[in-house]
Amino acid sequence: MTRLRLAVQSKGRLAEGGMDLLKKCGLQFAYGRDRLHQRAENMPVDMMLVRDDDIPNFVASGACDYGIVGENVLVEEQFAGRRGKELEIALRLGFAKCTLKLAAPKDGPIKSVADLEGKAIATSYPALTKAYLEERGISAEIVEMNGSVEVAPRLNIAEAICDLVSSGATLEANGLAAFETVLRSEAVLVRRKTGREPEADAIAEILMRRSEGVINSAQTKYIMLNAPVDRLEAIKSLLPGSDAPTIAQIVGRDDVVALHAVCRERVFWETLEALEAEGARAILVLPIEKMLA
Ligand code: ATP
Ligand code: ZN
Repeated sequence: MTRLRLAVQSKGRLAEGGMDLLKKCGLQFAYGRDRLHQRAENMPVDMMLVRDDDIPNFVASGACDYGIVGENVLVEEQFAGRRGKELEIALRLGFAKCTLKLAAPKDGPIKSVADLEGKAIATSYPALTKAYLEERGISAEIVEMNGSVEVAPRLNIAEAICDLVSSGATLEANGLAAFETVLRSEAVLVRRKTGREPEADAIAEILMRRSEGVINSAQTKYIMLNAPVDRLEAIKSLLPGSDAPTIAQIVGRDDVVALHAVCRERVFWETLEALEAEGARAILVLPIEKMLA
């Protein structure tokens, strides 16, 4: 029987998020994390645990059917003219969000893309950076580094960097300031554009549908409250991102009803306080574990 071969990072940010997502999709794995292969016990899925940089190639070459990789790595492979071009995004996975940014010393002369003309830029994403600058008519020297890019200006290896940023703390700690966003990235599920096996696709479809449920439910909450009948419309209008709520009678009361709603946006304390101010009582906010909409 066909098994879906899935390439996942062996350790790192994508490994954790990827395993977490697959577990929430119901996959169970037999062994610890220290093996190249992991076989799901309860679904026809095999995982191949590799370095994230190798994932586009593994999928393009057919060694794996699908892979979980950062969009930044995929786009770099595409710009570099390597096999990334043969791949497509099957699903955006909503974790490992980061941005690829141009940055330079805070107190230095480089404040914009135009200031990069003739300068040296250190990056682990040479093809992406080069394409970005060329498109804006800037010619700069690209210094390729495989890690610790943020130290390049201090070591006089380059005047600016193009690197992944999430909170900005690393830039800050190295006296750098970002001035331009080159790419917004998140983990993505990739596959070959052509030449896939229908059986593998069918298994992947099940996982993708479950993943959508997991991703959608991550921010989604279930709200229950009691609402005065005459304030019902005002209360409904305060519920963030909810469609038609369920209204139920409360035994022995005709001035108050129970309201249940699925809210697809974050529910803040401010929202709860506003609901309370409109007369809502017994307000409960519950996490939703799984959802098939
Ligand atoms: P490997 O050994 O597999 O090559 P790596 O050092 O390239 O590991 P990580 O640092 O785990 O990998 O990053 C993997 C991916 O996670 C990146 O390609 C990017 O998509 C995402 N990522 C990187 N830095 C951040 C960050 N600060 N916040 C969120 N996501 C990030
Ligand atoms: Zn890597």
